[in-house]
Amino acid sequence: MSDCIFCKIVEGKIPSKKVYEDDEFLAFHDINPAAPVHILVIPKQHVESLKDCNESHAPMLGKLFVKLAAIALDQGLVDGYRTIVNTGRVGGQEVYHLHAHILGGPQPVGPMLVRR
Ligand code: AMP
Ligand code: ZN
Repeated sequence: MSDCIFCKIVEGKIPSKKVYEDDEFLAFHDINPAAPVHILVIPKQHVESLKDCNESHAPMLGKLFVKLAAIALDQGLVDGYRTIVNTGRVGGQEVYHLHAHILGGPQPVGPMLVRR
């Protein structure tokens, strides 16, 4: 996808602070962190969002979360972290290349959503 920011990061056309890379996945620090540790884990394959996934994506999605857990541990998040996958307009997705957020820090990251 020529106009996708995260594809450009995968291709090295936009710099990122990488924390993990293999053939299928890339993890890098979020440019605008919302917690002391804020990392994005993405598949290198361009998939717009979770709602574009089907059965054929199941192995990739499984691996994404297994890698994510290993990356979080490697980053020292031994007491836990929050994982978020924003999906579509209502989910507040800003970048339409599937990604999972890892949010952590020494203190609890706070309530999941503010009840209203
Ligand atoms: P989302 O709302 O789930 O689509 O989140 C997209 C995330 O990507 C936001 O937290 C942004 O701060 C982050 N982001 C956008 N551009 C970049 C970039 N060039 N490098 C790192 N993170 C980025
Ligand atoms: Zn992309």
